[in-house]
Amino acid sequence: MKLTIGYLYGDLMNIYGDTGNIIALKKRAQWRGIKVKVQLITLKSKILNLKSDLYFFGGGQDQQQELVAKDLKIKAKIIKSEVERGVPLLSICGGYQLLGAYYKPYKGPKLPGVGLFPIFTEASSDRMIGNIVIESMFGKLVGFENHSGKTYLKKEALPLGMVIKGFGNNGTDKTEGCIYKHAVGCYMHGALLPKNPKLADWLIRKALEVKYKKQIELKPLDDTLELQVHHKAIQKFS
Ligand code: GLN
Repeated sequence: MKLTIGYLYGDLMNIYGDTGNIIALKKRAQWRGIKVKVQLITLKSKILNLKSDLYFFGGGQDQQQELVAKDLKIKAKIIKSEVERGVPLLSICGGYQLLGAYYKPYKGPKLPGVGLFPIFTEASSDRMIGNIVIESMFGKLVGFENHSGKTYLKKEALPLGMVIKGFGNNGTDKTEGCIYKHAVGCYMHGALLPKNPKLADWLIRKALEVKYKKQIELKPLDDTLELQVHHKAIQKFS
């Protein structure tokens, strides 16, 4: 089997180790004999190249977000249609913010978002930094957050999970992230996936199921190390 990972704006939006998510997805697929191609999709990339089996959109500072928001005006429609047909997507922090209705940076005008997640984000004077642990449909997830943006869920939005430790979407309503079909958005840098193998495998499995139109069982991997780090972080930060 083959898997193409579309790395959205990987040259601009890849702070706090977020490229580690691409490495984790690639290795966990290759360890199962799946051929992997990573395709950078960035400013001016042709829309047709967008066709991937799984998308990743990392975090970035306000400056990069401004640049990317302009380009997303052209790509928004196809990103939404890809998610509507079930293609999985993982977005972190700055990328997550731009997939909502809008992101209002601390300075400058509101940046229009893709409108994929029913959320909106406004920068605040608080900087929400630190280790984060949440309870989700994937069990506990651990990560590291660093954002000033406060994200609010509209009534139809489903949070990715509930905060056990940390700030999450906005530091007040105890929600963290958002999930819509097989698209996940959250504030968990770190990188997220190496420490949360269950989520990594869910993204790979869903991508292959949509691509090959059949039920897929992934061969179990030896996750001793990944789970050691996962449980240590839960124990230390919960
Ligand atoms: N600029 C956004 C914020 O500070 C996103 C930063 C990030 O991606 N870590 O909220």
